[in-house]
Amino acid sequence: MFALDDLAKLFELTVREDSLAGGLTVTARTQSIVLTPGQSLASVGGRLISLPAPPTRDGRSWFVPVDFVPRALAPALGTPLELRKPSRLILVGGVRVPRVAGSVENLGALVRLTLDVAPQTPHAIAQDGNRIIVKFEAETLDATLPALSAPDLIQNIRVGDGASVVLDLGPRFGSFRTSDLPGDRGSGRIVIDVITQTTAAPPAGTSPAAPPSTSPPPLLDLAPSGGIRTIVVDAGHGGMEDGAHGPGGTLEKTVTLSVAQRLKSALEARLGVRVILTRDGDATVDLDERAALANNNKADLFVSLHANASVRASAAGAEVFYLSLEEYGDQAQRVAKGETEALPVFGGGTRDIEVILWEMAQARYIEESAALAKEVEAGLRERVLMSPRAIQQAPFRVLVGANMPAVLVEMGFITNAEQERQLVSEPFQSSIVQSLVDSIIRYRDKLASPRPAGPAAAPARPGGGVRP
Ligand SMILES: [Zn+2]
Repeated sequence: MFALDDLAKLFELTVREDSLAGGLTVTARTQSIVLTPGQSLASVGGRLISLPAPPTRDGRSWFVPVDFVPRALAPALGTPLELRKPSRLILVGGVRVPRVAGSVENLGALVRLTLDVAPQTPHAIAQDGNRIIVKFEAETLDATLPALSAPDLIQNIRVGDGASVVLDLGPRFGSFRTSDLPGDRGSGRIVIDVITQTTAAPPAGTSPAAPPSTSPPPLLDLAPSGGIRTIVVDAGHGGMEDGAHGPGGTLEKTVTLSVAQRLKSALEARLGVRVILTRDGDATVDLDERAALANNNKADLFVSLHANASVRASAAGAEVFYLSLEEYGDQAQRVAKGETEALPVFGGGTRDIEVILWEMAQARYIEESAALAKEVEAGLRERVLMSPRAIQQAPFRVLVGANMPAVLVEMGFITNAEQERQLVSEPFQSSIVQSLVDSIIRYRDKLASPRPAGPAAAPARPGGGVRP
């Protein structure tokens, strides 16, 4: 079901409830849709249209079946509205959202990725550092991408920014080749062969097959197996959310993105790890989505970057946060103590724990997050001004769903004029980046044992159903 209020906002509808007749009138542009509670019917401009279920009321909100959109709303608006249930998209008008279905074959020395694209869509394929990017001329993609098990060659296949498919390359990547084939009924087929380095890495030899951009960065500080392989760096706020404002007009979202991008490059170069940004531009990203991105990419650490604000203009210094469980009740506290058998399972069931509540995800990592926060605080203290309350616990929403050690760094007070100037400056941003890289290396080196075995599945969001 869709909440009628949500549809009203999206499509500029007015909803009027007729308490006498017990009906609902939805006005879309000049057309009216009349709904009657208990009846699986809608009248659109006097024409009756069947719905799979009647509208229902929950509290003060009305809900309509999702098919209300293509069946009733589209004719009322006179606009094509296409509902793609599996990908949870509503396509309005003539937008270009090609379906992309991927499959992989592991052929030993090469992995073949096949993308079937319907309808056939112009695209460009290019290598950018340790990624191959397939960029489509489209608004977005309706993509189903395969999982694969060839981390040496391709670490991940994912949907990237804009309408792109991104292949994150592994250390054994040598070269790639592509071919475009016409598919059936107006579709297209893209085949990408990702090929292993031909030489078995002789000490001083260079692989002629590998373009220079794929050679590893010079200062590799590689983790032992079981260490940190993937780090998610979260640039706080973005898009419609500016975050805090400085007296000189600096926006928190601009500072966090700049530091996040620098931190990504530095971590990739110094640790040889994969770093994923929750946003790589001025985009609005939901808080839960940020943690979900980290969970879906099996990140080993989550670092969220922010700039602080205070009504006291003199407030200054960096602060490091990890999650406080107090707001999250007894269940979270029990999870933190390792009483996993007490975990509720979303959607029913009690014992066989495969998924855990979104709110519980971070609970099991509180101790590791505290240890990480301690290293980060010590690292920052070597290079930048610290607040009197340098390390704290707080119930930050962005940390709650993270299924790995997670910290939030307030790099300084943007509301302090002097700190505002520092926050946008190259030397200060570099100090923050250097401190964080050093801290993460120290944290990694102190990891005596691998992570405690936790549930492998991504946690479910409350109300979002159980994800496999
Ligand atoms: Zn913030």
